[in-house]
Amino acid sequence: MDLKQHIRGIPDFPKPGILFYDISTLLRHADAWQVAMGRLANVVRAYHPTVLAGVESRGFLLAAPLALKLGCGFVMLRKPGKLPGATVGLDYALEYGTDRIEIQADAIEPGARVVVVDDLLATGGTMAAGIQLLQKVGGDVVAAASLIELTFLGGRDKLDVPFEALVQYD
Ligand code: 5GP
Repeated sequence: MDLKQHIRGIPDFPKPGILFYDISTLLRHADAWQVAMGRLANVVRAYHPTVLAGVESRGFLLAAPLALKLGCGFVMLRKPGKLPGATVGLDYALEYGTDRIEIQADAIEPGARVVVVDDLLATGGTMAAGIQLLQKVGGDVVAAASLIELTFLGGRDKLDVPFEALVQYD
């Protein structure tokens, strides 16, 4: 199955000049959703993770069911102020301005093998920040994975762990 047939490009979202790859058409198609999760499970399984970390918010849609499928735990990397209890955060640069992600301070057990999962890799800034934050709290980040990679932005060069994607746009 060609997963690209289930991903739709929406021009000028969220701002003029941006082509947004919408995965909701894939998620709502039972077979495409199942095939995508099966393929993602196969590539991620090879890294023998014990925990998957999902990046808010579309990353959660992939990481949580994938974790169940692989028998892993699931942890959330969230926008600021969303997680209860003690948190650790990381600020990272965007094209214009900065952003921040947080994790619960005790989310990662010693010896955990973590794979970070998001829906799409663009500039790589979000994924690189996720990896760095997980390392900051003691995670052994063994890989990162996404459904979609925008190869022309060179995001994977920002990552210091192996990166896997199911679908590339160049
Ligand atoms: P980056 O930090 O790599 O530049 O951007 C990736 C982040 O932005 C991901 O968390 C992803 O969800 C979101 N993102 C950026 N562009 C798109 C897009 O075209 N489609 C989707 N689904 N997400 C995008």
